[in-house]
Amino acid sequence: MEYLNTEEFALMMDNSDPLKKYRNEFYFPKHSNGEEALYLCGNSLGLQPKSARDYIEAVLDDWRNLGVKGHFEGAHPFTTYHESLGEQMARIVGAKKEEVVAMNSLTVNLHLMMVSFYRPEKDRFKILIEKNAFPSDQYAVKSQLEFHGYDPQTALLELEPRAGEDILRTEDILELIKNKGKEIALIMIGGLNYYTGQAFEMEKITQAGHHMGCTVGFDLAHGAGNLNLSLHDWGVDFAVWCTYKYMNSGPGGIAGCFVHERHIKRKDLPRFAGWWGHDKATRFLMDDTFVPIEGAEGWQMSNETVLSMAALKASLEIFEEVGMKALVGKSRLLTGYLEFLINSLGSERIQIITPKQPDARGAQLSIRVLNSDRSLFRAISDRGVIADWREPDVIRIAPAPLYNSYKDVFDFVQILKKELGL
Ligand SMILES: *Cc1c(COP(=O)(O)O)cnc(C)c1O
Repeated sequence: MEYLNTEEFALMMDNSDPLKKYRNEFYFPKHSNGEEALYLCGNSLGLQPKSARDYIEAVLDDWRNLGVKGHFEGAHPFTTYHESLGEQMARIVGAKKEEVVAMNSLTVNLHLMMVSFYRPEKDRFKILIEKNAFPSDQYAVKSQLEFHGYDPQTALLELEPRAGEDILRTEDILELIKNKGKEIALIMIGGLNYYTGQAFEMEKITQAGHHMGCTVGFDLAHGAGNLNLSLHDWGVDFAVWCTYKYMNSGPGGIAGCFVHERHIKRKDLPRFAGWWGHDKATRFLMDDTFVPIEGAEGWQMSNETVLSMAALKASLEIFEEVGMKALVGKSRLLTGYLEFLINSLGSERIQIITPKQPDARGAQLSIRVLNSDRSLFRAISDRGVIADWREPDVIRIAPAPLYNSYKDVFDFVQILKKELGL
């Protein structure tokens, strides 16, 4: 794509954008001057679909009108509400419907998956993670090691970029798995690193891990609803994600969880059980022997927060209409445009650390501000940009293809240009 650094070009792209109508299906926050903010933070909290309120009100109405009967009656009974969400999310992450469930929150699901899939043995007990993984993942992984009696100092292996580099090279990841694989019980990596915006080659990592006898799981907090994923075909053992980032389910929204088909009927896997994971045919017979559902649903513990699932439902209906193919198609063009415009500034003060190859990233560019404190970030925020600052020196900008426009990207770079004094 030949991009042009002009407002006319941005408007022309918006005009021919097949997804342009979806912008109007979301609420944009207001800047202090009363105008719409320049929202580029969908990697942190996706915007509210205008339809979310109706979905939530429908649940409130069923509860009001049906009381306990709402569990089995009404248009979307509470007991089965999560089922269609699992099915829709399965399409988003490239899975079969029985492999995906909507439940809990992300870090909780990560723990539940590690209960089943981190099975340390005498000579194989290590966990491999990326060094700058999201803190919650580091805490979860380290606490699992400690729970099993291991010292994270020796039992946690961390993938580190080469000196002077920000991005992990796939060849280095595969080399480490080859060399140390026999010691590794579990490979658990963020599929798209929240800080650098790097998308890892999950299929290759999965294959390499399996070749060495490791279990392989991914945290897709920044990958789900953002990248083209084929979790089933790639053979990933498990994956977890939240839905309030690119999937717009609202703060603390219900999370997702994937368990590969080859594991869903296994009887030998330990798990933390609860009645919502019990065989549906006999769940309400209240027998005291746990019989798991043969699917990712078998890992559910409690009946879910239906009010929260309603907001997720609103957003998933939009994903259903758009499809990941069209979404990723626009995303690549839009993020490419942001990259082009930033590079056109020719500023020595800023540097994009996110990979350049479109298939090694999603809808986010991480911009390092050299020799800076937060002042540049504060200045662009004062001008109505909602983005995100990560210590020590990175501004993360995420043009979300469902609701951001080429004009948004153009306007943002104009603001950046002014504040850089260019
Ligand atoms: C956003 C994010 C989290 C947040 O965890 P919650 O359990 O949803 O609070 C965890 N891990 C990663 C990689 C994230 O990006």
